[in-house]
Amino acid sequence: MSRARQAVAAVVDPEIRVVTIDDLGILRSVQEDPATGRVVVTITPTYTGCPAMDVIRADIRRALVAAGHPDAEVRTVHSPAWSTDWISDAGRAKLAAAGIAPPAPVRRDGVVPLTLAVRCPRCGSPETEQLSRFGSTACKALWRCRSCAEPFDHVKAL
Ligand SMILES: [Zn+2]
Repeated sequence: MSRARQAVAAVVDPEIRVVTIDDLGILRSVQEDPATGRVVVTITPTYTGCPAMDVIRADIRRALVAAGHPDAEVRTVHSPAWSTDWISDAGRAKLAAAGIAPPAPVRRDGVVPLTLAVRCPRCGSPETEQLSRFGSTACKALWRCRSCAEPFDHVKAL
C-alpha cells in the first residue's frame, strides 16, 4: 500500500469517529502520479446531503499534506451509489464495539425482506424499538433496547 493511500485510508469519519472512510467504503481509489507525486483521491458520498463530506474532503487533503503530498485532488463520484453494504466487516465490528448497531445487509434481488430486528449492541437483545428517525446525526437513528433500557444509535441501512 502506498504512503498516500495509507494516509487517506486512515482518515476517520467525522461523525462516527471509530471507523475510517476506508472501513465505511467511502474511499474508492487513491491514484498517485509517480513522476510528480500528485495524488487523485476518489470518494463516494454516503447519505445524500451528509454535511460530513466537506469535512472528509478537508481531512483527506490535510492527511496527504502530512504524508508529503501537497498536490492533491479529491474527486467525488456518485455512481455506483454508496450503500451500507459497502461497510467492511472490520467496519461493522468497530461500529458494534462502539455501541452503534451496524446496518443490516440490504437485499437487492427485488424480494421484500422480512423486517430484521435491530439488535442491541450492548446486550444483543432483539427486543428494541426506534425512538427517533434521527439520532445524534442525520445518518443515524436513535433506538432503545427494551431488555437493558439503553438507548443506542443505529446506522440506517441504505
Ligand atoms: Zn440491550
